[in-house]
Amino acid sequence: MARVYNFSAGPAMLPTEVLTRARDEMVDYQGTGMSVMEMSHRGKHFVGIAEQAEANLRKLMNIPDNYKVLFLQGGASTQFGAIPLNLGNGSGKADYLNTGHWSVKAIKEAKRFVDVNVVADTKPENFTTLPAEGETTFSPDADYVHYTPNETIAGVEFPYIPDTGDVPLVADMSSTILSRPIDVSKFGVIYAGAQKNIGPAGLTIVIVREDLLGKSRENTPAMLDWATQAEADSMYNTPPTYAWYMAGLVFEHLLAKGGLEEMGKINERKAEKLYAAIDGNDFYRNPVEPAYRSWMNVPFMLADDSLDKTFLEEAGRQGLVTLNGHRSVGGMRASIYNAMPEAGVDALIHFMNDFAKRHG
Ligand SMILES: *Cc1c(COP(=O)(O)O)cnc(C)c1O
Repeated sequence: MARVYNFSAGPAMLPTEVLTRARDEMVDYQGTGMSVMEMSHRGKHFVGIAEQAEANLRKLMNIPDNYKVLFLQGGASTQFGAIPLNLGNGSGKADYLNTGHWSVKAIKEAKRFVDVNVVADTKPENFTTLPAEGETTFSPDADYVHYTPNETIAGVEFPYIPDTGDVPLVADMSSTILSRPIDVSKFGVIYAGAQKNIGPAGLTIVIVREDLLGKSRENTPAMLDWATQAEADSMYNTPPTYAWYMAGLVFEHLLAKGGLEEMGKINERKAEKLYAAIDGNDFYRNPVEPAYRSWMNVPFMLADDSLDKTFLEEAGRQGLVTLNGHRSVGGMRASIYNAMPEAGVDALIHFMNDFAKRHG
């Protein structure tokens, strides 16, 4: 079996231990004589899997009891519309921080439903920086504030949680969830597509404070209404059962590895050494203001972009794959989520130094 170090931004690597276990349980799940994929979502075996996955996520993230955890479909992008439908029923106004590609998309969708007030905007800086802590002024009458704690494409990450007072804070954590401990009680809603740091594509996690449920607009489709989904234990219709099961295996794996405290330490170390390698060599460059550099997505440019293709080809031959940057940014991007072993980052750094020596 040859596994490569896959630096894809998503769908991304999964822990080999998790894939192996899924393989072992694929055809006959724990003596049931069937695959998890073949189970009724309302049968006792799957309900057990679903409940265990939620319990483990609650434990991992230390989610308070007054929050519901939903296991939905449609990706983070579906939530871009669900958020204003569920929360934008008061003043009909919402504050958004515009800090990158995904904020742009969230704002575009929200504008269909609410008055969007952009309270911070780093587009003029090409999304290479973030507002400093305390710098952003929020509207007291907004129904909610939305931001993207980690922007997957530009590689910027908030090192703080914005203080929005009594206005519920909504966070698109698609590319940073489970990367370090966070205080869930500071948020009204946390949501994330699974395919970066949780499990396979097809599953979307929504963590929502209970007092925010049941306030949706009258014309909200049932599938997008968090209260409907919460009442149905995320089984208003057939949920993405296999992806839910796989996410459960990942949660179990992370707990066994020491939880998010331990993940945070490893992720910080992985990111620091990669940025040090970039900063320490004139051949490479990362455009992000150091205080706001992402632990998860590390874009970097070669001094001579005519070498990009050679870099990717040579890296690929060494089992370092999907390093191409997003088409809107160019250059390279190494996504180093939880499942990227530290040895993968070390191998990348070794390759980068060697490549620079030969071509610099
Ligand atoms: C990948 C990503 C999305 C889009 O997720 P889908 O699940 O494909 O809709 C949204 N926000 C962020 C921050 C992402 O990284």
